[in-house]
Amino acid sequence: MICPKCGSVDKSIPTPGLTKRGQGRKLGKCKECSASIWAMPTTKLSEHSQLETVEQGEEREELLAGLYVKHVGADEHGKTNEIDIDRVIYKDGEKHCYLEIKERSNSLNAYKMTQFPYAKIETGQRLMDEENLPVYIVLKFTDCWARLTINATREYEKGSQPFAPRYRQYQQFRQRQVPVKLDVEKDLEILKLRDLCLDEY
Ligand SMILES: [Zn+2]
Repeated sequence: MICPKCGSVDKSIPTPGLTKRGQGRKLGKCKECSASIWAMPTTKLSEHSQLETVEQGEEREELLAGLYVKHVGADEHGKTNEIDIDRVIYKDGEKHCYLEIKERSNSLNAYKMTQFPYAKIETGQRLMDEENLPVYIVLKFTDCWARLTINATREYEKGSQPFAPRYRQYQQFRQRQVPVKLDVEKDLEILKLRDLCLDEY
């Protein structure tokens, strides 16, 4: 398990590969900082229409991006023209970094491997190449904020390939569905930012 407060990994208690609904539980306490460590699965919102959920999701990402900007001591954030890495952060009037921010409804320790579209890595690596700026993917879990700093040369592990596309126009869409898998114990940096985070369930 990995501590959502200090990031220390305790190998004596494994992070579950999968935590099913109804199986949420406390895994233990961190040996370094004594924070409680929970495996709590994803919860789905069902009471809103899909459109409302999308709009609320965008507003929520705006809010989260604003908190992140404050945390890193930057000035503001804006939209990029990229689908996969959709924010740019400015500091002192200059571009400071690129950012994609995603909120998860599960705790950090619910799933050992966390996934998102591989296209985010490809776009991130291209932006690093073109602009020579760092690119981050920030994942806001229920109990912590975590960050992946995209490495320009690393080959990230891809999940199972989608079925080979029959029509060329679907190729790009299909490619966006290939997942990349990250190990929450090894690949993510736990941020000191704790706004909107739970300490206990
Ligand atoms: Zn800790």
